Amino acid sequence: MDMKEYIAEAERALLHTYNRYQIVLERGDGVRLYDMEGKEYLDFVAGIAVFALGYNNRAYNDALKEQIDKIIHTSNYYYNRPAIRAAKKLKEVSGMDRVFFTNSGAEAVEGALKAARKYAYLKDGSREHEIIAMNHSFHGRTFGALSVTGNAKYREPFEPMIGNIRFAELNDIESVKAQITDRTCGIILETVQGEGGLIPATEEFLREVRAICDQRDILLILDEIQCGMGRTGTMYAWQKYGVKPDIMTTAKALGCGVPVGAFLMTERVGQNSLAAGDHGTTYGGNPLACAAVEKVLDLFEENHIIENVREVAPYLEMRLEELKERYGCIVGRRGAGLMQGLVFDRPVGDTISRALENGLILINAGTNIIRFVPPLIISKENVDEMISILERSI
Ligand SMILES: *Cc1c(COP(=O)(O)O)cnc(C)c1O
Repeated sequence: MDMKEYIAEAERALLHTYNRYQIVLERGDGVRLYDMEGKEYLDFVAGIAVFALGYNNRAYNDALKEQIDKIIHTSNYYYNRPAIRAAKKLKEVSGMDRVFFTNSGAEAVEGALKAARKYAYLKDGSREHEIIAMNHSFHGRTFGALSVTGNAKYREPFEPMIGNIRFAELNDIESVKAQITDRTCGIILETVQGEGGLIPATEEFLREVRAICDQRDILLILDEIQCGMGRTGTMYAWQKYGVKPDIMTTAKALGCGVPVGAFLMTERVGQNSLAAGDHGTTYGGNPLACAAVEKVLDLFEENHIIENVREVAPYLEMRLEELKERYGCIVGRRGAGLMQGLVFDRPVGDTISRALENGLILINAGTNIIRFVPPLIISKENVDEMISILERSI
C-alpha cells in the first residue's frame, strides 16, 4: 500500500476525531521526521511538546529496550525499581514530595482534582466543594479534566460536567476573588496556557493567587503538562517565579513518547488527601513507562537540555519578532521559552499546510495562532531554517 492508500484505510478504520494532515510519519532522527515515502521534515511540534530529547536518541532507546527484556508491567500492588527511581528523581527536579504516576495528562488532572476534593472533605466532611479554573484553559478530554477546561466548545456536547466548577480570567485577580466562596477547595491553572493561546500567567497574578490560597487553605494546582519539563527554561515553569503549587501535574515530555504522566503534591497534601483505596490505575507507573521517565530525567541533565532552551529560546523569540515586523498579517507574538505563538489576523491552516509541503511541521493553537513547541534540542541553525521555510509559506 502506498501512503494515499494507508490514509484511505485510516479513514475507514479510525474514528474520525482528528482532521489529520495528509502524511504518514514513519521515523525520526534528531529534529527531523520522515514520512513513509522518505520525505524529510523539520519538526517544530515534537508531537505537541512531547519529544523533548529529539527522535531516535540512542541512550533513550537502549534504556527502553533493556527494560523490555526485563519486565514491562507488574501491578501497583508490588514495587518496581524503575518507578521508585523515577519518583525519586522527579521529586528532586520538582521540589515536590509525593508522586502518583498516570498514563496521560488528563489522568494526572483527574488525580489532582480528586486530591483537592479529598483534602477539603477530610477537613469539614462537606461534599459540596468548589474548584476555580481559568477561561481559555485546557486540561484534557476526560470528564473531570474537561469540566475545568475553559472552552465551552469542548464541553457543551458532553454536559453535564462534574459540578461546582467556577471560571475566572487568567491574570485578573479580581475575577478570581469574585469566584471564591467558603466551599472553594482548589484553584487550577496552567502556568503558561498552551492550547488557549500561549499565554503565561504573570508573576504578580501567581503570587496573588498563592496568597489567597494560603489565607484560606485552598490548594493551588498548577498544570505543567505542556509548559513543564524544561520548555520555558526551568524544569517547571513555576520555578522561575518561586510560586510553589500544592499539587502539580506533568506529562507530555515526561516520558518523551512513552505514555506517562504524574501528579505530585507537597507532603502536607500527601498526608491529608488520597489514602489507600482512594485512587488507582492498572498501568500507571509501570516499569516500562518509568524506565522512560528515569532515562529522560537523566538525559535532561547529561545533555544540558535546559541550558539549550535558555540559549536558543531568546533567539527564536527574536526571529519571530522580526517576522512579525515584516508581515502585516502577523499581529502578535507571545509565549515563554520554547513555547511560542505567532498570532495572525486570519486562520493559519493554509500556512501550516504549505509549510508541511515545504518540509516543516508546525501546529496551530486555536484558529489564528501558529504554535512553536519544538524538540528542546533545537539549535539556532534549526531556527533559521524554520524561519526561512515559514516565510516561503506565509
Ligand atoms: C495536553 C494537555 C493536557 C492533556 O494531556 P493528555 O495526555 O492529552 O491527556 C492537559 N493539560 C495541558 C496543559 C495540556 O497541554
